[in-house]
Amino acid sequence: MADGATTRDLRTRNRARVLRRVVVAGETTRADLAAQCHLSAATVTNVVGDLLREGLIEERGSLPSDGGRPIGQIGVHPSGAYFLGADVGEHGVAVELFDLSFERLDREFREGRTRESTPSEIGEALQDAVSAIRARHPERESRLVGLGLGLPGIVEDISGSHGGREVVLYAQSLGWPPVHIDELLRADALEVLADNGAKTLATAEMWFGAARGVDHAIVALLGRGIGLGVVSNGELMRGLASSAGEWGHTKVSVGGPRCRCGAQGCLEAYVGADAILGRWRDGGGEPPGSGWRALTALVAAADAGASAAVRVLDETVEVLALALGNLVNLTNPERVIVGGWVGLCLMQSRRAQLEAQVRAAALERPGGQFALELCRFEGDSVALGAALLPLQRLIDGPMAKVTA
Ligand SMILES: [Zn+2]
Repeated sequence: MADGATTRDLRTRNRARVLRRVVVAGETTRADLAAQCHLSAATVTNVVGDLLREGLIEERGSLPSDGGRPIGQIGVHPSGAYFLGADVGEHGVAVELFDLSFERLDREFREGRTRESTPSEIGEALQDAVSAIRARHPERESRLVGLGLGLPGIVEDISGSHGGREVVLYAQSLGWPPVHIDELLRADALEVLADNGAKTLATAEMWFGAARGVDHAIVALLGRGIGLGVVSNGELMRGLASSAGEWGHTKVSVGGPRCRCGAQGCLEAYVGADAILGRWRDGGGEPPGSGWRALTALVAAADAGASAAVRVLDETVEVLALALGNLVNLTNPERVIVGGWVGLCLMQSRRAQLEAQVRAAALERPGGQFALELCRFEGDSVALGAALLPLQRLIDGPMAKVTA
């Protein structure tokens, strides 16, 4: 009995390693799998056979080798599994459908009914978007593994030992009470997993982007809210109960402007989009709206020499650099990765200024050891990262039980 369990565990673990490697590489060979996964050639042959039978990978023809037999290429079977990922914010939700090669096949966006939506309004928007995508892809339903949610706040799994999963969102900045995930949507035979949105963004960068293969990195999400993923020893840091990385509510001044979380002097109250545009408005600027167009208008005004715009943008870069410099001293990263739409705008317009100031804010030694990079997926990968939550389930075990 014990031997049987051990053999099964070993097979599951080997399957997980090989499948993960094929998904990350896209296309590979059995020899590469053996080397990368530290497995024997015979084990790789067995596992590859199992994954071919599960329909998750496919033969991709062969390459000639020097003198020997041709080398068979294998890759993911894109239609072997499907995943839904959702970027859930207070203003609306974006739900995206991916295949196993993580190509985005479809997307559905729903705005919340009001500017400051309640959890039930966002839940309705989410339900509606998920249903619309599923209705458009009935032929993919049987291989749909699950739905991952990237949420705007702290996400904790508080499941007790008595069974039943309980996952709760704590979105203090939005003024929401704690929300149980199953209050947010009815899943209809679909497994639903959730994580903080900045952590799903960091996860996407770790799998496919600027943090790939990097053991020590910080991934900053700059939008209306400010989030962070800290990659330490190749893993996302979570702390005791998962809130590690709530960087937006670390303080950068004593007193200072009031933050949405209720405290004063939070980073988000300086470099969150609403704070930046609010300061510009106070200085006489007239931002068109509150999103990307308004922020690029600020940059254009600063580039044209408008003094209020120059002041606001310089102050934004200065405070952001100070906060990133603090993180560099705290975590000694190899890469500092900036994403989110505010991050994208600042990296496009003020990258050199930001980089010089981050290095100056940090101690000389760690300040000279990191590379500053833009997120590979720029402003738009919370949903992709969320879709990696059900992928992890598929990697950890066969998919039979999750078909609807
Ligand atoms: Zn705050």
